[in-house]
Amino acid sequence: MADHKSVALLGTGIMGAAMARNLLRTGHTLRVWNRTRAKAEPLAADGAQVFGTPAEAVTGASTVITMLFDGAAVLETMREAAPGLTSGAVWLQSTTVGVDDVPRLAAFGAEHGLVFVDGPVLGTKAPAEAGKLTNLAAGPDRAREALVSVHDAIGQRTVWAGDDGSTAAATRLKLVCNNWTLALTHATGESVALAKGLGIDPQSFLDTIEGGLMDCGYVHLKADAIARDDFAPSFALSNAAKDTRLILAAAQAAGVRMDVAEAGAERFRRAEASGHGDEDMAAGYFASFGD
Ligand code: NAP
Repeated sequence: MADHKSVALLGTGIMGAAMARNLLRTGHTLRVWNRTRAKAEPLAADGAQVFGTPAEAVTGASTVITMLFDGAAVLETMREAAPGLTSGAVWLQSTTVGVDDVPRLAAFGAEHGLVFVDGPVLGTKAPAEAGKLTNLAAGPDRAREALVSVHDAIGQRTVWAGDDGSTAAATRLKLVCNNWTLALTHATGESVALAKGLGIDPQSFLDTIEGGLMDCGYVHLKADAIARDDFAPSFALSNAAKDTRLILAAAQAAGVRMDVAEAGAERFRRAEASGHGDEDMAAGYFASFGD
């Protein structure tokens, strides 16, 4: 029987590093690789084995997790990993990718005998560090059992959206959820900017909506970041801009008009152009000022 606690993780950025630490804390054997090796090295102190190539990292692992930037990065990395992959291993593809990327990735998995799971996550840096992500997943029943210990390590809840990863059922759900999150982020940034423009203390905006139906946790999270001028990334703006492009492409293919998301894409474009791409997406706020 496969040892489901032998895990390889490709990509130790904000989310991957947090997931890695929770996998290690919960008794998994963890082999990691990151394009920029220096970002993976600190995980050695937590017990991870750090490798120089994706192929070395996945060798012998019964579960492979990818947590990279986008679909292209995942395919490129998995091609490099191919010589080390074990037929029958479960591939939990957690990167946020496009709806069109998923069947391509599933086909790669099938070619290499992997059990492909479309498995994006909801939640940002703090929930990832606390092991409290919401795991979305679509894949065959045999993957569910194999992934229980991984899912329990990284998340507080797992939502199975389908039994065939290639249909992108989990990714479609993820993009819908992200559209909501991104709209909240833009509405927060604009409302704080408008408050300032109209000579209103942004805090009185927050105090006024507090506890009512218009209130939500996200508005406080992002408005507080703006108030503290703290744009250390939980979710980098350039990553959020990528997700907006994925949402718009999926919507276009489905014949759905997305005026708010289009406007959000333009705000992210302006914020990126003025140098805020590596900051948290709350820095989309800066799109309200200047050209
Ligand atoms: P991140 O900190 O920017 O990490 C991105 C990772 O992708 C890094 O390991 C980076 O390697 C790697 N990468 C980028 N391009 C690559 C390429 N061409 N080949 C190989 N590796 C490449 O981002 P993150 O916040 O952890 O997000 C990772 C994924 O999770 C993204 O798809 C994001 O949309 C999704 N996500 C993020 C959040 C969040 O709140 N942060 C929440 C849910 C889902 P280097 O270190 O070498 O640059």
